[in-house]
Amino acid sequence: MTVKRQLSMVLDLNKCIGCHTCTAACKLMWTNRNGREFMYWNNVESQPGKGYPRDYENMGGGFDADGALRLGRQPSQEDYGIPWEYNYEEALMTGTDPWLRPNVKPTWGANWDEDQGLGDYPNSYYFYLPRLCNHCANPACLAACTRNAIYKRQEDGIVLVDQERCRGYRYCVNACPYKKIYFNEEISKSEKCIFCYPRIEKGLPTACAQQCVGRIRWIGYRDDEDGPIHKLVEKYKVALPLHAEWGTQPNVFYVPPLSPSKFGENGEQLDESRIPLSYLESLFGPRTGEVLDTLAEARQAKADGKGSELMDILIGYKHSEMFKLS
Ligand code: SF4
Ligand code: SF4
Repeated sequence: MTVKRQLSMVLDLNKCIGCHTCTAACKLMWTNRNGREFMYWNNVESQPGKGYPRDYENMGGGFDADGALRLGRQPSQEDYGIPWEYNYEEALMTGTDPWLRPNVKPTWGANWDEDQGLGDYPNSYYFYLPRLCNHCANPACLAACTRNAIYKRQEDGIVLVDQERCRGYRYCVNACPYKKIYFNEEISKSEKCIFCYPRIEKGLPTACAQQCVGRIRWIGYRDDEDGPIHKLVEKYKVALPLHAEWGTQPNVFYVPPLSPSKFGENGEQLDESRIPLSYLESLFGPRTGEVLDTLAEARQAKADGKGSELMDILIGYKHSEMFKLS
């Protein structure tokens, strides 16, 4: 779909510390009530892992190589995780009431497999992958909606659900391969990340980016050649979409994580990355190795005192300079 301008986000996975402050900021602002309790418009996964909702990568959706829409399956409530509240007062004071209300035995949640990863000590590995709606250029959710209730704003490319038109058919949930659109059973309508458009319209960054402790998120327009998005995505080409093969043309991009080297049997460092390149390529595509080389070179240039515009951008010396919203 063509829009006048496209707002985008870049996240540097080398800087994410998995603190979930972004998730809390989003949840407190948009989804902690009124049937949205199970929704995490922003979540942070440990990868390799099953993600949120559980096993979303195997639920289908998006477009096939010929551009035909694929309807995947919907996650169950258990795949998202049953929302609960902690019952501190009575559990601590009486020792009789359950810790959780309702009295559930949860089997999954938004960060259920946190910090597990893969591999055996000392070569185990994981990294954090924050996820949100990609405000795709070719949104499968929009293509699947038989009510024309989903639209992409001309002025900034943000994808929104017209709550007046939505009838809760949920084709959008089936079609989004990232499972980043949710069904609110209390109001029988679909809801999703709105890229904090009321804040964007005031020149403010999204809550997840504003609150990001690791300063891993940049926001700006794709066509702004002086802005950080254009530089990271187009000029230095170090930011890649997640699962581009799903065909939705995401506008959220990731700087893939560099990896420490593996240890050999005697504790010696091997010339082999602990995170397998093949795994990263399965997420970010065939250019991942090239990007990691560019990052390593820029890092070395900075360490050698030669200077690197790329590394200066990635360090993000001033938080306010990471957002260019006009
Ligand atoms: S990530 Fe999913 S919900 Fe968001 S615009 Fe793309 S297809 Fe739609
Ligand atoms: S706030 Fe930033 S550093 Fe913390 S988990 Fe979210 S993206 Fe990662």
